[in-house]
Amino acid sequence: MVELLQNYINGAWQAARATERLEVVNPATNEVLAQVPLSSAADVDEAAKAAAIAFQSWRRVPPVERVQYLFKLKGLMDANLDDLARTITLECGKTFAEARAELQRAIENIEVACGIPMLMQGDILEDIATGIDEMMIRQPLGVAAVIAPFNFPGMIPFWFLPYAIACGNTYIVKPSEKVPLTMQKIVRLLEQTGLPPGVVNLVNGAKEAVDAILDHPAIRAISFVGSTPVARYIYSRAATNGKRVQCQGGAKNPIIVLPDADLEMTTRIAADSAFGCAGQRCLAASLMVTVGQAKAPFTEAIAEAAKTRTTGFGLDQGVQMGPVINHQSRDRIENLIQQGVEEGAKLLIDGRNPKISGYETGSFVRPTILQDVRPDSLIAQTEIFGPVLGMLHVETIEEAIALVNSGHWGNMACLFTNSGAAARKFRSEAEAGNIGINIGVAAPMAFFPFSGWKDSFFGDLHGQGKHAVEFFTQTKVVVERWFQDWSRQF
Ligand code: NAD
Repeated sequence: MVELLQNYINGAWQAARATERLEVVNPATNEVLAQVPLSSAADVDEAAKAAAIAFQSWRRVPPVERVQYLFKLKGLMDANLDDLARTITLECGKTFAEARAELQRAIENIEVACGIPMLMQGDILEDIATGIDEMMIRQPLGVAAVIAPFNFPGMIPFWFLPYAIACGNTYIVKPSEKVPLTMQKIVRLLEQTGLPPGVVNLVNGAKEAVDAILDHPAIRAISFVGSTPVARYIYSRAATNGKRVQCQGGAKNPIIVLPDADLEMTTRIAADSAFGCAGQRCLAASLMVTVGQAKAPFTEAIAEAAKTRTTGFGLDQGVQMGPVINHQSRDRIENLIQQGVEEGAKLLIDGRNPKISGYETGSFVRPTILQDVRPDSLIAQTEIFGPVLGMLHVETIEEAIALVNSGHWGNMACLFTNSGAAARKFRSEAEAGNIGINIGVAAPMAFFPFSGWKDSFFGDLHGQGKHAVEFFTQTKVVVERWFQDWSRQF
């Protein structure tokens, strides 16, 4: 009997009111792991009301006490890391090592949010005029919510959640309906910390639940991470409803390789960026632009790296790349590869229809390389979100930067070189929110904002670090004067 997942509302696990549900599937085997309810507006309403009530007392808990729950959660997540990582591999497909690394990133965000008693401080200036002081204090907003994607089930909610609750807000998590198991487990750990009921609520579901979150009057702030069309939709609907909103969208990340780049290191890093997590990272390299003499050696080296990458079930020893999320995604990726070929690209390495012994029913695509991709072709501009690398070639760094900036995405751009001057030029001129210099996945640490420009981000304040503190607080300015005649006694 497959488990039907529950929601966690006001400190209690309960069945969703909605009867519609989906199967949660292991993408390596197609085995059904659980059923997830597609919660209705009534479920969201219940969570939002519980969070709104909890907010009245949670905002009054001193920040130094609020973070004690996060310290406990960090300890519990450290202690349960392998179990959580296994769950991520089972429902999401990435390798066990990748899943562990993802969770480390979640934990880092908890650690940073434990500094809220300092991070949340305001400003004060004595005597803005004689005898008058002015101060800015930060206060929580109320109820906030995150709508998360499938590709980092354990990490992405933590770009927001620890900061939101440490700042005194109460919270609703809506995980991706494709990978709801990891957050179920993490919320069970959160429960063990003794966090007061209603401070964190979990609502499973898809579009109906999301729309209810976007429209609910008690929800003040929304963080979204997912594809660009949905990001755009969520940004506009939430903003129309007067909510604070930040939406991280899709990507098509270029990496530029200059002829002086270290061949071995660059190839290893670029292959991990393009094919790690089966290319399902918003910071995955999906275009490699070789400059001048870099073309021949790097094409040969990356092709070799693609061919030799071991693909299989992420819990098996020696596996370097797991499946993509499901059959629909596999079919979509294979169709896009075909489209690239029809647009004139050369299929240097074809990873379609792989035979993975023992996992014939899984959603596998092996590393694929398309060569001589035209910059104006659809394949050069479409997010594939699979282990597919397109190769392009230009003669100068100026042309390479112009190529990067001609795209409508702006999540990440990387340069591989030994030249400091070239690196400096690229860092300054490339139009992307996350820049890597000899780095293939330029993922900001928890104490820096996870940036993103152009169609990869809608909003102004990003997730993580100081941006998250800004996002989850509203500033209040107080101008204060006191009258006292010191010649008179109290
Ligand atoms: P998605 O946009 O399909 O889904 C994301 C969330 O939105 C899910 O919780 C889903 O239930 C909900 N949703 C989906 N369609 C909806 C609709 N029509 N109306 C309302 N809600 C809807 O994204 P995904 O496939 O889960 O994740 C992959 C995408 O996320 C990729 O595009 C990837 O680049 C992006 N991503 C971006 C970042 C970043 O930091 N910029 C990080 C991770 C993933």
